[in-house]
Formats: sequence, structure tokens, C-alpha cells
Amino acid sequence: MTTAGMFTDSEILEYLQGSNEKELFDKAYRCLAEGLGTTVLYRGLIEISNYCRNNCLYCGIRAGNTSASRYRLDKKEILGCCKRAVESGYGTFVLQGGEDNRHSIEWLENLVKTIHSEYPNHTITLSLGEKSKDDYIRLYEAGARRYLLRHETATRQHYYQLHPDSMSFENRMECLRNLKEIGYETGAGMMIGSPYQTYNHLLSDLRFLENFQPDMVGVGPFINADNTPFSDYTNTLLAPDDEASVRLTLRVIALVRLLVPKANIPATTALFTLGKSITMDECVKTGANVRMFNVSPENAKEKYNIYNGKSDGK
Ligand code: SAM
Repeated sequence: MTTAGMFTDSEILEYLQGSNEKELFDKAYRCLAEGLGTTVLYRGLIEISNYCRNNCLYCGIRAGNTSASRYRLDKKEILGCCKRAVESGYGTFVLQGGEDNRHSIEWLENLVKTIHSEYPNHTITLSLGEKSKDDYIRLYEAGARRYLLRHETATRQHYYQLHPDSMSFENRMECLRNLKEIGYETGAGMMIGSPYQTYNHLLSDLRFLENFQPDMVGVGPFINADNTPFSDYTNTLLAPDDEASVRLTLRVIALVRLLVPKANIPATTALFTLGKSITMDECVKTGANVRMFNVSPENAKEKYNIYNGKSDGK
């Protein structure tokens, strides 16, 4: 299997900036083909709530966005989504949401247990943000086996350009270590072209991922979200326009494939939102191997606006 352990920092920086893009994509595709294989894995995404106590500066469902129209699915609705996912042939349910204060650990534990007992052969993935180690253990014991928690940025200073001081870089990183230690298949990742991001930040992200070796890595372009502090922001260095942002995202996917060869890497909804004509086949050619389809009810899909123009994954 091809590995990228031989890449120096300057080689990674050159690839990030677009040198030898075809060579990079070919290497990443070969790595995928020889390692995991090129069969695309499908997941059913269920957006369970857009209430969030956090105030990530980039996110459309941040607590401070008083214009957001809020919803939370009840247990029956979530089980309906699972049924839809099963009918569509998806083997994994991904339950994602904001950090909703009303979701007590007991409620979540009960939800996961019910899904697990109704669909014992399906995998339950959670993406519900930062929790205590004890809570992560309880959800694991209830039947969840994967957890997606993007690290967002591996550079402490950059973290606080994207998040308020009330949030904690150290805690996010500790959550990731805890998840791995508990035995979850753990997912990390970051946005591409996020505010103030530089190529050196991306290099640090890639070195972090290489070192942490997560089981899943989610990378997608940053997209403006109305009514947020970054609603009009453009990262003129990394992503001056949509096309540049999409190309850089594909190059990062390829580098992640080479640095974390066994990771499942989705072609994200954000990538398809910004790259309107991009196909899954093109994403596979750069090393991606997962696609998530949104099986949430239509009125929930409309309200889970973490960024503008979100595609429903079709
Ligand atoms: N609350 C959970 C968490 O914090 O991990 C999961 C939900 S959160 C909305 C999922 C991901 O959406 C974040 O990790 C972030 O990278 C991404 N996201 C949020 N706002 C975005 C934006 N404006 N553009 C692109 N991705 C965004």
C-alpha cells in the first residue's frame, strides 16, 4: 500500500497549493484501490436536532442565531428515519445534531438502545458533539459504535479564531482521545478554507490526522452561513471562489487518503453543495469512499442550515 510517511512538510505544502495535482490524485486513488477498495459505502444521515448550546462562529445553527427556525425530532420520527435508511439499503445510521440541552444522556441512551434492538445488524454512528467520557461510555454500551467529532483545527490559536473563549480546544482534543480509548471507530476532520485558515494550518491538521490515525475523516469546504459572524467572509488565500475551494478540498482528501490509508473518507454534503457539478466518481478518484444520504424528514432538512444552500445529498 502506498503511504505518505515519506512526505516532507514542504512536499505537502506544495501539493496543497496545487503542484502535481494529477500525480497526487493518482497516488491517492491507488492507495484506496489497494487498501480498502473502491466500492462506495453508503450511510443514512439523520439530523436529529438543530438546537445547539454552542456558538461556533461559522455555524448557522449556533445558539446566537436567533433567526434560525429550531426543531428536534422525537423518538418516533427518528425511528421512522432509520426505517427509511434500511429501506434504501444503508447499513449505517448517522445521528447528527447540535449540542441540544434537552437531549439528556438517559434519553439518548434509551434512543440508541431502541435503535440497536430494532436493527441489531446496523451500525449506529453518533455525531452529537462534546460529552463527558462517562456519557460516551454509556452510549457505547447502549450500542453506538462510531462517533464523528471533527477536531475543526489542530492549531490552538486558530481554534479560538473560529470559536468563542467559552469553548475549549483542549476539551475537543480530549474528547477525541476518550472516544478512541473507549473503542469507538472515531472520526475527526476539518473545514477547508475556514476563516483565517492558512496552508500551514492545513499542514498541522494533516500531521495531526497522520499521528492520530482516526477511523474516519470528514473534510468539507467552509460555506458561509447567514446570520453568523462569518456570513460574508471569504478566505482569499485558500478559497477565493467556489471552484478553488472545491479543488483544495479534493487535494486535502487525497492527502488524507495517503496519510491515513485505512480511514473511511466521505465526499461531504458541503463538497456537493459548493461543487454543483462534481460526481462521486470524481471524489473516489481522489481517495474518498463514503457517501451520506440525508434520510431526515423534509421539514427538518430545510431547517438544519449549518451553511447556506445545503444540498440534501442527492
Ligand atoms: N454538534 C456536533 C459537533 O460539534 O461535532 C455535530 C454537528 S456540527 C454542525 C457538524 C460539522 O458541521 C462541524 O464539525 C463543522 O465542521 C461543520 N460545519 C459547521 N458550520 C459549517 C459551515 N459554515 N461550513 C461548512 N461546514 C460547517
